[in-house]
Amino acid sequence: MPSNLDLELVSLTKRYGSALAVDAISYHFASGTYACLLGPSGCGKSSTLRMVAGHESVTGGSVLLGGRDISFLPPAKRGTAMMFQNYALFPHLSVTENVAFSLKMKGVDAATRASRAGEMLELVDMSAFAARLPAQLSGGQQQRVALARALITKPDILLLDEPLSALDPFLRIRMRAELKRLQRELGITFLHVTHGQDEALALADEIVVMNNAKIEQAGPTRSVFEAPKTAFVARFLGSHNVISLPGGPIAVRSDAMKINAPAGAKMEGQITNIEYQGTHVALTAAIAGNQEVTALLPDQEFFGAPKELGEAVGLDWDPQAAHALTA
Ligand code: ADP
Ligand code: MG
Repeated sequence: MPSNLDLELVSLTKRYGSALAVDAISYHFASGTYACLLGPSGCGKSSTLRMVAGHESVTGGSVLLGGRDISFLPPAKRGTAMMFQNYALFPHLSVTENVAFSLKMKGVDAATRASRAGEMLELVDMSAFAARLPAQLSGGQQQRVALARALITKPDILLLDEPLSALDPFLRIRMRAELKRLQRELGITFLHVTHGQDEALALADEIVVMNNAKIEQAGPTRSVFEAPKTAFVARFLGSHNVISLPGGPIAVRSDAMKINAPAGAKMEGQITNIEYQGTHVALTAAIAGNQEVTALLPDQEFFGAPKELGEAVGLDWDPQAAHALTA
């Protein structure tokens, strides 16, 4: 894999008038990484992606690809390709014509266009639909065509902005496995924007959590999940309790929370909700200071000693399961 295709954001900044949408973010993405930009709506994810793509001007800082400053190059000269949320397929063009469109713009001859489009459709398993119009395809099929169209330019980096959000939940999970497979097969960097933490956890080698125009925490996905540094990251990733204690806030994973007798437990709580989730039961308990915590218990454990709403319980966790948080 060519390691000279690393993507580097250096103090990258975007202002719209006086509004700061991206505030001097810096990050190094190694070539061949599946990376997710994760954060709530409005935190600056799309602006960041569009500056990498060249669809939005850079207010400050730079975008480097393989050490080359691409900040001011037109989109087609950057080695990037973008797949949009709404796919943006041309309704009057066939699947093949949609996929081959950028080659036609470049003046590539018809025979080469047809053969390259054919290869791309094979890659996304859409060869059988080559002659159809976009309106004759399901959402998932349209998405495959959009992928093929983005990949036909042989980009060094594929940029994806909320690529799965138009799909129903079942298809979303199937398509995310497809994205991961494609990224592995092609070996290029995928930079994928999402506000869904499970999507990011499922896909990303590297996760970049954004909040208020800044990077809140970034790194290998599992290390971020295992050790969130701020209350925001712990809450946004989910599956964590953020507990305010006199010594400062801590995060404890829901699956590390234990339910015991109240006497001798770290904390006492009163059960406010019991939710059956199939393999697990989620118990929510009110604790001191107007706080709530959730314990995720394996179903066997819960049904071995069921609890009632309103019951007083003790809450415990192993010391190594607690992480100190900043604010
Ligand atoms: P995200 O993709 O994380 O939801 P965006 O990058 O789209 O966030 O937006 C970041 C901030 O910039 C938001 O406050 C948004 O309203 C603002 N913004 C985005 N695009 C524009 C624009 N073209 N003009 C003015 N403000 C914009
Ligand atoms: Mg967005």
